[in-house]
Amino acid sequence: MLLKSRLESNELLALRYLSRRMELTEKEKYHYLNLEKGYEGELQFDLLAKSLKEERYIINDLLLEVNNNFFQIDCLMISQGVIHILDIKNYHGDCYFEANKLYSVATKREYKNPIDQLNRSANLFRQFLQNLRQNFLVEASVIFINPEFTLYHASMDKPFIFPTQVNRFLEDLNKTPSKLNESHKKLAQSIVSLHKTENPFTSLPKYNYEQLHKGIYCNTCKSFKVYKKNNILLCSNCGGKEKIETAILRSAREFMLLFPEQKVTTQSIYDWCNLDVSKRTICRILKKNYTTIGSTNNTYYQC
Ligand SMILES: [Zn+2]
Repeated sequence: MLLKSRLESNELLALRYLSRRMELTEKEKYHYLNLEKGYEGELQFDLLAKSLKEERYIINDLLLEVNNNFFQIDCLMISQGVIHILDIKNYHGDCYFEANKLYSVATKREYKNPIDQLNRSANLFRQFLQNLRQNFLVEASVIFINPEFTLYHASMDKPFIFPTQVNRFLEDLNKTPSKLNESHKKLAQSIVSLHKTENPFTSLPKYNYEQLHKGIYCNTCKSFKVYKKNNILLCSNCGGKEKIETAILRSAREFMLLFPEQKVTTQSIYDWCNLDVSKRTICRILKKNYTTIGSTNNTYYQC
């Protein structure tokens, strides 16, 4: 049973939007593409995890806090006798393991040590359970999901599940009967209720409204070469089509995420979209889709 599904983090969304509207530095780009890749890997694992049978709770994408320490869990699985903490890595290419560190063979770039990260999360999660006065066996593993990944020099005692082992890992889970009771349910509910939405790990580039490229880009190819024809937004780059209303709402969501402190008004969305539509159209779309707040002269909108 899936108790919490996975969505793009606000950090990933913000970087995605910013990458289309400003020039990211190499470092920012690298961070952004890593987040995209990581998210893609997590979705791939979710697809495989659909084959899981027996009773269990699956809670994805958790951010928890214990004694002021935040920790993230990509996938938490509560089965009858064990809780699995899974860290999903979408690494690609050849890597090697040396002195407890992981390096890319091609670039010699060092990756964050997946075992340190995993142990930290597992230890903090055990403390978290203790605080809830719960006593469950916790097993933590790193899942390397990308079939194009090879790791050299990793000893067998490492908590790694390689691409060629993921299916067997899931099959083994399916072979162990699991029945959940009231205490599993209570635990799962408290975990979900303690999930934090404000992530202190977030790292975004500095940006301001003036510097960002305004306008609506094509939803397919991300080009700003779009124009309006009746109620449709057309892309002269790829021929993509989108309803004007959908495109404006999509851009309004970007505005809200990138500038949470600014009010969503007809004027602000009109400026942000920078499109050949009347303010009346914008006003109608915002009214129809959001809650109107305030009087005629200073109306703004909320989700
Ligand atoms: Zn396009």
